[in-house]
Amino acid sequence: MTTSTSSAIRTRFAPSPTGYLHLGGARTALFSWAFARHHQGVFVLRIEDTDVARSTPEAVQAILDGMQWLGMQPDEGPFYQMQRMDRYREVIAQMLQEGTAYYCYSSPEEVEAMREKARAAGMKPRYDGTWRPEPGKTLPAVPADRKPVVRFKNPLEGVTSWDDLIKGPIAIDNAELDDLIIARPDGTPTYNFCVVVDDWDMQITHVLRGDDHVNNTPRQINILRALNATLPQYGHLPMILGPDGQKLSKRHGAVSVMEYDKAGYLPEAMINYLARLGWSHGDDELFSREQLIQWFDTHSLTKSAAQWDPKKLNWVNAHYIKQSSDDDLAERVAPRIRDLGGDPAVVDLRPVMALLKDRAETLNQLAEGAMLFCGPYEPASAELLAEHVDHAARLVLKDFAAKASVLPDWSGDVLEALIKAMLVDHGIKMPKLAIPLRLVTTGKKQTPAIGAVLAIMGRERVLQRLTAAIA
Ligand code: GLU
Repeated sequence: MTTSTSSAIRTRFAPSPTGYLHLGGARTALFSWAFARHHQGVFVLRIEDTDVARSTPEAVQAILDGMQWLGMQPDEGPFYQMQRMDRYREVIAQMLQEGTAYYCYSSPEEVEAMREKARAAGMKPRYDGTWRPEPGKTLPAVPADRKPVVRFKNPLEGVTSWDDLIKGPIAIDNAELDDLIIARPDGTPTYNFCVVVDDWDMQITHVLRGDDHVNNTPRQINILRALNATLPQYGHLPMILGPDGQKLSKRHGAVSVMEYDKAGYLPEAMINYLARLGWSHGDDELFSREQLIQWFDTHSLTKSAAQWDPKKLNWVNAHYIKQSSDDDLAERVAPRIRDLGGDPAVVDLRPVMALLKDRAETLNQLAEGAMLFCGPYEPASAELLAEHVDHAARLVLKDFAAKASVLPDWSGDVLEALIKAMLVDHGIKMPKLAIPLRLVTTGKKQTPAIGAVLAIMGRERVLQRLTAAIA
């Protein structure tokens, strides 16, 4: 893996596994993924696990789970930086040999003193270049028993600039940049250096990442240049703000994308919603994964911070629920019914989904609604029954039971028709029949359309409960 010969687009998502895949990370991954897919390129997953104190296998798993849930499969990887240490050391050795990096024996105390001195002189605190080799310069004597760090020989003059895919042209004076430490005294490579070697080796053509990395970019560009590497294009995504305008954080419930799975959001809805946080295609709010791939380009990424809006996410999720087939919903909701202590097998869940899906914002709401059929039966309270099921109501219910027992067909339409006909026969208004009927068959005063509810419950169950109630 060295320099790229093909022109294929290659993007990467490079999370540090120090926590869950949170919403910001998922959005970064999504844009890198969509960009690669749009160009029929390659999407690479790289786990930046060199911060051993903070990286955990659980966090790696959580990231993989989140990406799997959202359907963003990498074409290559996951690669783990901790497994690439030999390669980083190899490049450090190469740079030392080529003179683009050098050993620095200044102790941390000495470096701190240099910084202090610069600060006192009203300059930017920095390493003073004591060990930086220059033509004709004599370096100090190497102190005994001191392990050196390796520093990158950053250009002293000029500017490092790039045309950011999102922010536009950015230029930094090289004089602003220190000679970055690329290897610690024990030889382990540092963060920015690993990123550079990886982006180089993995032939990344486009780096889309959070704008908290803008400051790293000129450093990385300079090292890439020193390596004669082809530079990727960089795009830095503005952050996501919470509904209160503050940086999105745990406080806003933005813990992990998997929390949204738990709460009953569809991955399609999540993808659609996340894509709109900083990217747009005209006024389109709802689009499929395929449309996103077809439309995605970096020109439509917005410069301004996006704002998390839970209401809009619910609206998008409701749309995807409505659009889903009853079969698909039944399959997704069944385990959630079980989690609520219900038995999804007692009814055909498909008509239940058909009945509930127009009003549900989450799969969990569908599961809660389905508990009417799948949960334990809780008869109405004596109080409610006393209020709504008087003698006259009982007579109406008796008539309903008699007629219902001989219906040729047990369907929502047939039952609704029967109810309507009975209102006429008995000269009563809908609530006079519907409320007692609901109370004695479902235990609840309010349910979705009663005909459909009774149809789903099944003739046997309905007649049993009716008979018990009018006895
Ligand atoms: N590992 C970095 C992070 O999780 C991302 C580095 C990059 O994309 O260059 O913030």
